[in-house]
Amino acid sequence: MRIRRIVFSMIIFIMILSLFGCRGEIDTRPLSKTEFLMDTVIHLRIYDNKDESALEAAIDRLKEIEDRMSSHIETSDVGKINRNAGIRPTEVHDDVYYVIEWAKYFAEISGGAYEPTIGPLVDLWNIMGKGKGERQSIPDQDEIEKNMELVDYNDLQLLDDNRVYLKRQGMKLDLGGIAKGYAADEVKRILNEHGINSAIVDLGGNIYVLGNKAKGEPWRIGVQDPFDTTGKYIGILKVKEKSVVTSGDYERYFTHKGRRYHHIIDAKTGYPSDNELAGVSIVSDKSIDGDALSTALFVLGTEDGTELLNQLDNVQGIFVSKKEEVTIPKSLEDDFILPNGRAKLSINPN
Ligand code: ADP
Ligand code: MG
Repeated sequence: MRIRRIVFSMIIFIMILSLFGCRGEIDTRPLSKTEFLMDTVIHLRIYDNKDESALEAAIDRLKEIEDRMSSHIETSDVGKINRNAGIRPTEVHDDVYYVIEWAKYFAEISGGAYEPTIGPLVDLWNIMGKGKGERQSIPDQDEIEKNMELVDYNDLQLLDDNRVYLKRQGMKLDLGGIAKGYAADEVKRILNEHGINSAIVDLGGNIYVLGNKAKGEPWRIGVQDPFDTTGKYIGILKVKEKSVVTSGDYERYFTHKGRRYHHIIDAKTGYPSDNELAGVSIVSDKSIDGDALSTALFVLGTEDGTELLNQLDNVQGIFVSKKEEVTIPKSLEDDFILPNGRAKLSINPN
């Protein structure tokens, strides 16, 4: 009897403890995890829950996405599509088909600025970042032209029964500009399913903020300063429940004769895109949109990029020029802070 009573009162005590735990303000010390996945550093931080299994489920899903969508993994669905190029269609997982459908859509609306069949040119330039055996010189023009011919999203076919086909041999699908965005959306979904509503998902600069900070305050996300890659910010963005994705010329590049050659290739020139931009960030509800659009807009530049954004709903762009001018839309005026006087801010009326 006594033992029962002790056990009973212990249970009550634990229940009261956990009740207090739930009722208190959001704990500011997050439950966090850092991993190297999808070719980048991943940080997951959960603020309103201490559910380790949520983090594990998220990491497992990221590994699964990488295993299916990486063009560097031979056994991935993308690896198979590429090997079967010009030979036969490949049946892929639902999620791979879904991402390729969106990839094709973004290729269409951006006129090929976002180009999912960019693979042959990406391989040729092989710009992987420092110390990864990348090339130190510019490819020959005839090689560039030969590879340009193998790049065309119109020859990427989505067939019935989850089948995908690249029409010509030598073509190569590369989902590097969209897969992390999809992955961020998936991590958000998994965390939400575990009852988590306050978290920061950072997949190498591809960020999703879930909900808000304690007391309904927005999160403050630093927009990377392209001219200072030591983690300094060019601006701070206040956001709730949004994706913020950045593409820039400072992540992976090599320098040749004083010029920077980065990893986002313009299919129309065969060269790393070259315009007035140093970086562009996209604020959106879905990270898959933000990822594809940040890549597309980095190629398109401020003017054409703004025109494309104006055709879409609930997507905002922050453009950072090589001259350190930051252009934001009027709708972000109250939520974007320039912390130092160095950069110049202009507000786009659209
Ligand atoms: P990051 O992956 O560094 O965050 P992005 O999302 O902009 O940057 O994607 C760049 C990657 O996308 C490249 O490493 C390459 O695999 C691929 N890529 C390069 N150029 C293009 C392009 N024009 N369209 C689509 N994908 C591209
Ligand atoms: Mg991208």
